[in-house]
Amino acid sequence: MNHHPGLFIPGPTNVPDAVRRAMNVPQEDMRSPDFPKLTLPLFADLKKVFKTQRGQPFIYPSSGTGGWEAVLTNTLNPGDKVLIATFGQFSVLWADMCQRLGFTTEIVDVEWGKGVPLETFADILAADTAHDIKAVLGTHNETATGVTSDVAGMRKVLDAADHPALLFVDGVSSIASIDFRMDEWGVDGIVAGSQKGFMLPTGLAIICVSEKALEAHRSSKFPRCFFAFEDMLRTNKDGYFPYTPATPLLRGLRASLDLLFEEGLENVFARHRHIASGVRAAVSAWGLDLMAKEPKWHSDTVSAVCVPPDVDAVKVLRRAFDRYGVSFGSGLTRLSGKVFRIGHIGATNELMLLGALSVAEMALVDCGAKIALGSGVAAAQSSYCAGESVLAKAA
Ligand SMILES: *Cc1c(COP(=O)(O)O)cnc(C)c1O
Repeated sequence: MNHHPGLFIPGPTNVPDAVRRAMNVPQEDMRSPDFPKLTLPLFADLKKVFKTQRGQPFIYPSSGTGGWEAVLTNTLNPGDKVLIATFGQFSVLWADMCQRLGFTTEIVDVEWGKGVPLETFADILAADTAHDIKAVLGTHNETATGVTSDVAGMRKVLDAADHPALLFVDGVSSIASIDFRMDEWGVDGIVAGSQKGFMLPTGLAIICVSEKALEAHRSSKFPRCFFAFEDMLRTNKDGYFPYTPATPLLRGLRASLDLLFEEGLENVFARHRHIASGVRAAVSAWGLDLMAKEPKWHSDTVSAVCVPPDVDAVKVLRRAFDRYGVSFGSGLTRLSGKVFRIGHIGATNELMLLGALSVAEMALVDCGAKIALGSGVAAAQSSYCAGESVLAKAA
């Protein structure tokens, strides 16, 4: 009997019982007069999560990838130039989407383990005096490498060059777990998905766009249908959708937003920071490196751990799963065999991570790593003891 899902991947994340129960509902009429009582407050509350007064949220039956496509195809024109840096599998995939959609894609290839290269972007934007670049794309939290980038810094770089490009951010593994400020940072499009910080199953792309992005939308000639803002805007204003919404997921989103607000967003961010600090203390006690090259890149939602050169990370993952019933994230593409990832995003606490770290330690030792059992757990314990309590506080 397996009593605990043992899920420590950076999405899908553990779904709290209150959220699971909220989704266990009979199917309902999405055109009923009552339906807007559910949906209109969801739109209003998502704005609080994105920290925007003026932004326009959209909810699609999709995944984060669909959110990427929605933002691009609703605001740009065929062949428009976009600037993006790649430094892990998710930024690589977003850049690939830009190419496959036919945008002129200027890609800055960055060493994996670092984030958005602000100085390089500053030079490129300053040189683009004709303002050919229509959008600058940034991955807030690169889930493949556990690297968080400086989105406020991206805004500063755009402003310093006096450049009018739209700023689009992939926040799929940061939103609702790591601080994000849409209005303050002047972000024009932010993309999230239901199965990460929102603690829901996969199935929703949750995005938000600025007034400037909506203005660009009005002159955008990119072909689109399923993701068309115009259809969403026409129906969403009264609380309805242009096609069948994922109603149980919307019920779950209501419960998840209630949990986030009850704890308080700032407390949620502090809890992620605290939990992540313990994980980083453990990795350091093992004498292993994180993929993130410097503390300024450290992610509070996922840690990508480099295994010793004589250890195969694929075997560590298999051992953790087969012997101890625990899933860690695999090393994606070029990191396969070299890295395993510990997800600490969403509904997590000290108890869970101490268990996960203990299993990671056993799996590493079983696969030949020369580390002392208990060393990482003890380091995490010290870090947790020294920190503030992160038990959910009422706001
Ligand atoms: C998970 C993830 C995605 C992809 O989202 P899907 O829901 O799998 O389509 C994109 N970007 C980042 C940073 C992610 O973590």
